[in-house]
Amino acid sequence: MKGINASPGIAIGKVFLLKKEKLEVSNKKISKDEVEAQVKKLNDAIEESKKDLDRLREKTIKELGEEEAQIFTAHAMLLDDVEYMGAVRNKIKDELVNAGQALAETTKFFFDIFSAMDDEYMKARSADVKDVGDRVLRKVLGIKSADLSDLDPNTVIVAEDLTPSDTAQMDKAHVVGFATNVGGRTSHTAIMARSLEIPAVLGLGNITEEVKDTYNIIIDGIDGDVIINPSKEDIDKYNAKKESYQKEQEELAKLIDLPSETKDGHKVEIVSNIGTPNDIEGANKYGAEGIGLYRTEFLYMNASEMPDEETQFEAYKTVLEGMDNKPVIIRTLDIGGDKKLDYLPLEEEMNPFLGFRAIRLCLKNEEMFKTQLRAILRAGAFGNAHIMFPMISNIKEVRKAKALVEECKAELKAQGKEYDENIKIGIMVEIPSAAVTADIIAKEVDFFSIGTNDLCQYTLAVDRMNQNISYLYDPFNPAILRLVKMVIDASHINNNFTGMCGEMAGDPKAVLLLLGLGLDEFSMSAQSMLQAKKIIRNTEYSKAKELAEKALKAESSDEVKELIDQYINA
Ligand code: PEP
Ligand code: MG
Repeated sequence: MKGINASPGIAIGKVFLLKKEKLEVSNKKISKDEVEAQVKKLNDAIEESKKDLDRLREKTIKELGEEEAQIFTAHAMLLDDVEYMGAVRNKIKDELVNAGQALAETTKFFFDIFSAMDDEYMKARSADVKDVGDRVLRKVLGIKSADLSDLDPNTVIVAEDLTPSDTAQMDKAHVVGFATNVGGRTSHTAIMARSLEIPAVLGLGNITEEVKDTYNIIIDGIDGDVIINPSKEDIDKYNAKKESYQKEQEELAKLIDLPSETKDGHKVEIVSNIGTPNDIEGANKYGAEGIGLYRTEFLYMNASEMPDEETQFEAYKTVLEGMDNKPVIIRTLDIGGDKKLDYLPLEEEMNPFLGFRAIRLCLKNEEMFKTQLRAILRAGAFGNAHIMFPMISNIKEVRKAKALVEECKAELKAQGKEYDENIKIGIMVEIPSAAVTADIIAKEVDFFSIGTNDLCQYTLAVDRMNQNISYLYDPFNPAILRLVKMVIDASHINNNFTGMCGEMAGDPKAVLLLLGLGLDEFSMSAQSMLQAKKIIRNTEYSKAKELAEKALKAESSDEVKELIDQYINA
């Protein structure tokens, strides 16, 4: 099958099919004689679930930290809750209902109560009740739960899609590949796969229908191919490809400590995108000169309640200290669109990507926003922090957000707390209006970072997740090149720098062109950095500028790509 090559590398393994099954219970009544057996069935399921949760908690503490693991402690507490589980037992005894039905009905009862509460925190607990209830119910029904925390070696996960919590729970030591029905290069599954360095092919349409558990499978994350039940020849061929990919990686590793500089001495910065403090390890491993995008929304998404200032401060400080005074661009909360928080219910929207998200949401929730700003400012005392606002569409938003930063500084000063008074402030340029008015906004900020993932979807009116129109999602479209050029020029006139943190920055095909357009900072997944550095170190700035000049005159994306090929092969 052919899909989208979302994370490079070759994986040869066995399928683990992640199916989110519908849990159906029978409504068959039981006799008095069966009560004891049904209660025992429930109690056994609860005990097994507790063991699962303990394992998950331990694993999450090791991999992600105490904070992220708290959710599993809360879930375990629900299993001991007498009102909840006591009610299930009573239902079995008093109403002669089977364990599955008693559990499903009681779970729904509490779920409905929590969902109807006004208090947002309590409302969000309904999701926990359902999660725990379903976990126990699966055991009662004898449905092997999709437990991703304990997998066989060489597992390839095949799924409709993977949620951030799926990947959090995953037994990463044993997963060698991903294949999913939906998703593209910029989907969150893709971003996660690259940061975990797991080969992935996404957007396969119906791979979940084509495979069964334990089928042999090959994932070619380089070319986007998946081979189901491979022959001996296939396996030999892909083992060879895997070996040559690894050799290439070893060659690239020699560049880790060398500067990102062209042959004629033009220096740029190659930095990494990260999602959590854990990603620092990978960034440093591949010689990142800083962090160009720290997507802080994962801190919020992995928590069961709004992370407080202290929690955020610790996370940001960990990143800043881990990067040892190198620049770290911390993006403020970019939630909304496809990214949701259980504990922050938002209205359903017709067009969530054009809706109430990111900076729009933060400016309306000032206290929530200021909590994050204070945490960043305070962490700034421990390294070289930059603040970056996502989804800016006009200068008013920039001014308002900056005013809130000033308010936070004043508060911290009054409290006698340490913070970075001179923190650099920038914006993501990912909405066309910000790109077109970059000359105006440049006067208000210290830097730009171009978010091509969204800039492409908004400029070209192409949903970044929709496979049917993915042929239109093209960063080499002359419209995008012109916008990129406008943004870079506007920042240089104001003595600022422009980076790029969208996926385009790490595309080996785009690097030379972006260099020629004058991009100062290239931010990408840790794994892509060395390839980009190799391209930059093998060229002359004058050549790249020549390419950029010609590309800006090109009439179509095909023409741009042909030009790039000529220069790469020259
Ligand atoms: C972007 O839009 O290019 C970007 C980097 O942000 P995200 O992918 O998180 O939307
Ligand atoms: Mg974006």
